[in-house]
Amino acid sequence: MSGQLDVVVLGGGISGLTAGFLLKRRGFKVLVLEASGRPGGSIATWKKDGFIFELGPNTVLNNAFEIDSLCGEAGIMGRRISATPKAAVRYIVKNGRLVKLPGGPLGFAATPLFSLKAKLRLLQEPFIKPAPAETEESIATFVKRRLGREFLDYAVGPFVSGVYAGDPEKLSVRHAVPKIYALEEQYGSLIKGAIRKRKGPAPQGGLFSFENGLEELPLKLAELLGPDFSSGTAAVSVGVDEKGYLVEASGPRGPASYKAKTVILAMPSDAASKALKPIGGDFQEKIASLPYAAVATVCLGYRREQVGHSLEGFGFLCPEIEQRHVLGCLFPSSLFVGRAPEGFVALTSFVGGAVHPERALEPKEAILKKTAEALSGLLGIKGEPVISRVEQWPRAIPQYTIGHGVFKDAAAKLENKHPGLFVSGNLLYGVSLGNCIQNAAGVAARAAAFIKERI
Ligand SMILES: Cc1cc2nc3c(=O)[nH]c(=O)nc-3n(C[C@H](O)[C@H](O)[C@H](O)COP(=O)(O)OP(=O)(O)OC[C@H]3O[C@@H](n4cnc5c(N)ncnc54)[C@H](O)[C@@H]3O)c2cc1C
Repeated sequence: MSGQLDVVVLGGGISGLTAGFLLKRRGFKVLVLEASGRPGGSIATWKKDGFIFELGPNTVLNNAFEIDSLCGEAGIMGRRISATPKAAVRYIVKNGRLVKLPGGPLGFAATPLFSLKAKLRLLQEPFIKPAPAETEESIATFVKRRLGREFLDYAVGPFVSGVYAGDPEKLSVRHAVPKIYALEEQYGSLIKGAIRKRKGPAPQGGLFSFENGLEELPLKLAELLGPDFSSGTAAVSVGVDEKGYLVEASGPRGPASYKAKTVILAMPSDAASKALKPIGGDFQEKIASLPYAAVATVCLGYRREQVGHSLEGFGFLCPEIEQRHVLGCLFPSSLFVGRAPEGFVALTSFVGGAVHPERALEPKEAILKKTAEALSGLLGIKGEPVISRVEQWPRAIPQYTIGHGVFKDAAAKLENKHPGLFVSGNLLYGVSLGNCIQNAAGVAARAAAFIKERI
C-alpha cells in the first residue's frame, strides 16, 4: 500500500493520459493505471518497411482549444504535421464509383451524388417543423424527415459510419451528433442554423497527426508521467473509505492497492462496471450494457503503379446501400507526408461496424482477402499488396444509441453520490480524440478544484 495520492486515473488511453498529465503538471500526486503493456488505448501506430500506418484513429480534428494546450504543455507542438491540402477532397461511393463530395453551393448543384429531386427536396428543409422536444429520434429518422432519404444514404449515413462505425437507425441524433441536433432545437432548421449560427472563437489547425504517427502523443504523455504511469496494472475495484477512495489493482508484481482523494474513470465500460462493483448503484449496473461497434482496420501498401485511381484526397466513405464490404478507406500517403516510401502508396480501410459486426470478427485472412477485393474494384488495383496487416477491435467505438441519456444521468448521480469520483473517457460525451481530450481536461480541472477545496 503506497501513501495517499491526490488522484488515481483508471485507464491509460488518451483520456486517462490527458487527465493524469494535466493534473501532474499542476502539482498533484497522480498515478495512471493502464491494464495493457503500452499507453494510448485505441491509438496505435504501426511502422514497417518505410510505411507508417495507424491501426486505430488516423487524424485529430483540431476543434477544441484544449487540444493545442495539451500539445503545447507536453512540448510536442513541433512534432505535429498538418494534413496536406489534398485532404480537402473526399469521396463517396455511388454506383460503384468514387464521386467527389461537393465543396460549395455550385458544386452541390452540379454533383451527381444526389438526384434533382433530392436537391429540390432540400429547399423545403427550412420550412419543416422541429420534432416535439420530448421525442428522441434516431439519426436516420431525423435526416429522412429534414433532408430526405438520399441525404441519409449518400451523406449522413456514410459520415456516421466514418465517426461511429454506427447504425444511423439506432444512433440518437441528440446524443451522437449534438451539434446537428442543436441546430434544429435552436434555429428550427439545419440550413437556417448553419447560416445564422454565430461562429465562436475556434482553433485554426484543421486535421493533424505527428511525424511518427499519432502514437507520439500518448508515448510523450506517458514519458512525462514517468513513474506515475503504471502499465500492466489493471484496476480491479474501487471502494470508498472515510478519507477518499481505495483502488485495488493487479500489477506486474501482483496485487496492489492505492489510496486517493479522487478517482478518474477513463476505461472502457465493461472494465468500469466491474471495478465499480463495491460501490454499486445505477451507473455500475447500466454502463455494462453500453453498446460498442466492432471494427477491423485493414492496412495495405501497394506500388503506385498498381493503383489506377489518383488517390488525390482524404479517402472515401462507402454507403451501406452500395454493399461493398468496406465502411470506407483512407489514403494516408496522400493525407500526410512520410506515410509510404517513395513510389508506394498506403491505404487504410475499415470493415464491420454496428451494422455488420460479423465482418470485423472473421478470421484475419478472410478480412484481408475481402477488403483487397473490394478495393480492387473501387480503386482499380492490380496484383497483391506489398505489405498488409489486419487489426481487430471487437469493442472499437461506443454507440450513443436512443436512450443514451440514461448513462449520462447515471454518471451524474454517481458523481453526486461519491464526490471526488469522476467519469471520463469516450463513454458519454463524444468519441473523437478531440472530444476525449476536451472532456478529460474538463474532468482534470474539476478534480483539481475538488482537491483544493478539501485542503
Ligand atoms: C479503429 C478506430 C478508428 C478511430 N478513428 C478515429 C479518428 O480518426 N479520429 C478520432 O478523433 N477518433 C477516432 N477513433 C475514436 C478514438 O480513437 C477513441 O474514442 C479514443 O481514442 C478513446 O480514448 P479513451 O482514452 O477514452 O479510451 P481507450 O483508448 O479505449 O483507452 C482506455 C484504456 O483503458 C485501459 N483499460 C481497460 N481496462 C482497464 C483496467 N481494468 N484498468 C486499467 N486500465 C484499463 C485500456 O487498455 C485502454 O488503454 C477511432 C477509434 C477506433 C477504434
